[in-house]
Amino acid sequence: MPDKKIAWLPDLLYVAGRLESGLALVGDASGIIAGIARADELRDEKRVRLWRRALLPGMINAHSHAFQRVLRGRTEYRTGSTSFSGGLMAAESGGRPTLNEVKERDSFWTWREMMYSAATRLTPDDVYDASRMAFLEMALSGITAVGEFHYLHNAPEGTSYDDSNLLAKEVMHAAGEVGLRIALLRVAYARSGFQTEPNPKQARFVESSADAYLRNLEGLIASVSRGSVAQDSEALADDRANTPQAAWVGVAPHSVRAVPLDYLREVIAYANENDLKTHMHVAEQPAEVSACIEEYGRTPIALLESEALLSARFTAVHAIHVTPKAIPSFAKSGAMVCACPTTERNLGDGVVPADEYFKHGVPVCLGTDSHAQIDLLEDVRELEYHLRLQKLERAVLESRNPTVRESATSFVHDPDASQRNSTLPDGRVSAVARRLFDCATINGARSIGSPGGALEMGMPADFFTVDLDDPSIAGASKDDLLSSIVFTLSRAAVREVVIGGKPIVSEGQHLIQEEVVERFNQLQKKLWS
Ligand SMILES: [Zn+2]
Repeated sequence: MPDKKIAWLPDLLYVAGRLESGLALVGDASGIIAGIARADELRDEKRVRLWRRALLPGMINAHSHAFQRVLRGRTEYRTGSTSFSGGLMAAESGGRPTLNEVKERDSFWTWREMMYSAATRLTPDDVYDASRMAFLEMALSGITAVGEFHYLHNAPEGTSYDDSNLLAKEVMHAAGEVGLRIALLRVAYARSGFQTEPNPKQARFVESSADAYLRNLEGLIASVSRGSVAQDSEALADDRANTPQAAWVGVAPHSVRAVPLDYLREVIAYANENDLKTHMHVAEQPAEVSACIEEYGRTPIALLESEALLSARFTAVHAIHVTPKAIPSFAKSGAMVCACPTTERNLGDGVVPADEYFKHGVPVCLGTDSHAQIDLLEDVRELEYHLRLQKLERAVLESRNPTVRESATSFVHDPDASQRNSTLPDGRVSAVARRLFDCATINGARSIGSPGGALEMGMPADFFTVDLDDPSIAGASKDDLLSSIVFTLSRAAVREVVIGGKPIVSEGQHLIQEEVVERFNQLQKKLWS
């Protein structure tokens, strides 16, 4: 019966910002959500009863460098390195740092040198194996789509491969194997920095002209639209003409440091003409801001704004070192921010001023970035927790706008809803949790142009379930379950993950988990022993 609809019946289903009981998520044969139905009104759908489960929309990881998974746990010490970019450090401290300062300060820049030394050693097969590991871990944590900020293009010595998109295709192939949807955000990278000598360790990233970059970008777009990339996914391969996209391409000028202004203008003009999502690292480190002021007399945000490079398809990744004064005009451009708190805390980057962004209506999405940890709910909670530590306050990101609370209405008519609402302490707990969860779902989908992000008719059936008896959330009531998931859920509580209606994780195990982990173990042995 290939045309038969399927009805997933959890104990609780997340619809319109609430967890509701007695409902089924109904999908059609091509993995599209056909609707939400009352369980007692189902007809001849194939029923999948999900006992003791809550079912939620799949999360969207908007910023990833998959290969950096190989670095986890291998950079957690002081290096005493002196080999990073003196120019950037000098700009940061307002003068060239003394040797002692350099030796005593481990930072993003020393970490970056270690990251580069891993990046220069990876073969195309290694990139594939590392990416599969990262994507597998994402799937196991309830992520169903990823924005991969991909900057490994060339062979280690800097020459192009015969296929200049070989490594991008390895990454997309890896996502397809694991079953994740992927936005390959192809990075433009031209130089080491303003008045900075080329760094040979960046040779794999560089495409020195906008023409070369755009030619290679068009090649990748053509390959993806021909369907010759990422078709190996068992979960997503069949009947592709009728299913939402599994893989697509966006642009990612690396940063104002790595892409000079003329090049940047051309890349963004192309993205605007072709309606491509645009991601860029912006103001992750104070040194980057200082160097931009030195080169252009403006901060990165002011530069992007005054050059009219911001738009609703633009996502500024990190956007940490931004003054509150700059945020209202950034908001007017319609651009988004992607925060990556687990990486930002690991690298000592700083705290994303999400409260200021929210105040001005800037949508914030989330990414696991360097994969120091892959658990997007940890990024969700850190977005709030970092601000609590900074401001000595609680519930910093709760909306001051009462309409957000009021919009959490029941998806289907429920005569008991008003009585149940009265059990909430003024609706506040669910409001902040819902807002944070939106960052990991709806906002992420918008940022990378992904289908999904919500369980609504016409969207793909991309979702994950959590075990209601998992010790990390046991005892939560229906009304405070979302807060428990957002603030305390253990990744081990994620039990099923379904993408396009097809299960890729069952009972906490991915279909190809053993093989992916085994290959990754071998890769790590080869790289580090
Ligand atoms: Zn990044």
